[in-house]
Amino acid sequence: MAERPIPEDLALLVRLLNTSDLEAGQDTLVTPASLAEVDPTLALAPGELPALRRLREALRAAGLAHHVEDAPPPAELTALFARAPLVVEVAEDGAARLVPAPGLDGVAAFTARVAAVVAAAEARGEWRRLRVCEADDCRWAYYDQSPAGRRRWCSMRTCGARAKMRAYRAKQAKERAGGGTGPPAGARAASGNAGEATPPPRP
Ligand SMILES: [Zn+2]
Repeated sequence: MAERPIPEDLALLVRLLNTSDLEAGQDTLVTPASLAEVDPTLALAPGELPALRRLREALRAAGLAHHVEDAPPPAELTALFARAPLVVEVAEDGAARLVPAPGLDGVAAFTARVAAVVAAAEARGEWRRLRVCEADDCRWAYYDQSPAGRRRWCSMRTCGARAKMRAYRAKQAKERAGGGTGPPAGARAASGNAGEATPPPRP
């Protein structure tokens, strides 16, 4: 099966999320000029940038919750969307879509636009494929294009390889410590350290 292309509307959210590069310690979303890398039509006042960064991190929490079981719930995103309502617009041919409610401007209008993207992507079954890398020192955003939809890291060559190496070392250490293969813990405790030749694992 072929990889799925990134839908245009979700690509906007990936661009927004990746204005922050945790690994490099860089956040480009600090001046109005930097908004062009997210969307050339996006114009906000400097005072609205903190709100935009808040929206970005709320989206990141959702991107993590999409595939990491014990991720914190992305409640912040619901709270931000509550202040950016949508209405259903019906076109001349009868087609309907969600659009930002009249009267919104600035970051509220953009937040509503993001909410409309989320709703449309969920309806297509694609919202859950917007993810962030599960490595806690990375959190880079990506669209999971894999046929099975189970991609966990930004890249298998970097974060994925590191996580697999850590898991492998942990398994080896556990095996060296006798986890699961030796006698039951109670039996070992009762017999003391008699005849135990295996050295403890290195830290
Ligand atoms: Zn990563």
